[in-house]
Amino acid sequence: MAIWRETGASTSGEQMTDFLIIGGGIAGISAAARLSEYGKVIVLEAEPALGYHSSGRSAAMFEETYGSPTTIALNKLSRAFLENENGGVLSPRGLMLVGTQETKQEFAKDMVSMALQPITLEAALEKVPILDPEKITEVGYHADAWDIDTDLLMQNFARFTRKNGGTIESNQQIVQIKRSPNIWTVTSATGQEFSAKILINAAGAWADEVAKLAGIQPLGFTPLRRSIARIPAPNGLDVKDWPLIFGPGESWYAKPDAGKLLVSPAEEELSHPHDAWPEDLTLAKGIARFESVVTTTVTRLESSWAGLRTFAPDRSLVIGADDQYPTFFWLAGQGGYGIQSSPAASQLIADLITGKPSPFDKATMAALSPARFA
Ligand SMILES: Cc1cc2nc3c(=O)[nH]c(=O)nc-3n(C[C@H](O)[C@H](O)[C@H](O)COP(=O)(O)OP(=O)(O)OC[C@H]3O[C@@H](n4cnc5c(N)ncnc54)[C@H](O)[C@@H]3O)c2cc1C
Repeated sequence: MAIWRETGASTSGEQMTDFLIIGGGIAGISAAARLSEYGKVIVLEAEPALGYHSSGRSAAMFEETYGSPTTIALNKLSRAFLENENGGVLSPRGLMLVGTQETKQEFAKDMVSMALQPITLEAALEKVPILDPEKITEVGYHADAWDIDTDLLMQNFARFTRKNGGTIESNQQIVQIKRSPNIWTVTSATGQEFSAKILINAAGAWADEVAKLAGIQPLGFTPLRRSIARIPAPNGLDVKDWPLIFGPGESWYAKPDAGKLLVSPAEEELSHPHDAWPEDLTLAKGIARFESVVTTTVTRLESSWAGLRTFAPDRSLVIGADDQYPTFFWLAGQGGYGIQSSPAASQLIADLITGKPSPFDKATMAALSPARFA
């Protein structure tokens, strides 16, 4: 049964809609695209542009094996969309795990969890000639890891939303949320009001804050900061076909980006919802880990940034109706997988709202549902 159809007719008023989505990151905009097929959608984003926070700061990778079992289920189901829809947004990258004498245990674990194959040091050097054969003792690799054109993916979702009559409003920070029996009314800092039968919380690191505004019990999300530095291509080499290079136990990673290299310390620094920035010391630690397995040194950083990876207490996404208020939907806790899992996550939220059958089994649905925290 479609919940949104049970909630009664719209009242009059320009800003009345079927679905109000708070948050214009990948979560909000992908959900908007899906829901725009069923009714009128308005996306409300606090910042001047879509994807200003986490969604515009990611490493933009698709790695199917990455995340909890439910995340992997979402990744798998997202794959065909990312490969094909609107011409596709994936391009080949590959993933290489480089182990040293000190990282044997973590290396063995990652080889299994990421389904990597062992390759020789010679083969690894052919792919990444700066690897240090004196330090690296073992290497794993698979070709099945992909760059995601995140901008294009978001633009595609936004275009589809608008084509179906949906509206995307930037500079609309929601500061008040009221509920009458059948209608949610939200007010932005500019004083504008928007009403809808269904409210979707896709506010990323702010998901608990939005719930609190609505008088709903927060679920205990934790924003964890992660930073990235952009460095010049080592020795001026052509890096474009290098794989993502991964330190065992997710201790750092590096990947090519527009002729340069991105290096991340892969930190999970406990944070709070805010416009995140990197700390020099953290970046330096990541660079040092990278330098410890290569023959080159990093002489300068060209730029750097940080974003928040926001996790539910069990590190799985939260997708579904609030246990107490069934017209308030959570689409949150995307952690480090929000881009790659967005096609399936947005499909699932639309299926739940419109009462369509889901491709997921009951156990996966339960493990994604906010009701698991009740
Ligand atoms: C360094 C880094 C590397 C990553 N690498 C990858 C990767 O390789 N692959 C991958 O799939 N994922 C990756 N991620 C994770 C991914 O970026 C996130 O999971 C994803 O962007 C979360 O999307 P979101 O829409 O939930 O959050 P956001 O993009 O943060 O969007 C939430 C939006 O809600 C808005 N908002 C909040 N409160 C309000 C309010 N009251 N009113 C109006 N608007 C509001 C905010 O302004 C924000 O724009 C990475 C993240 C980081 C930081």
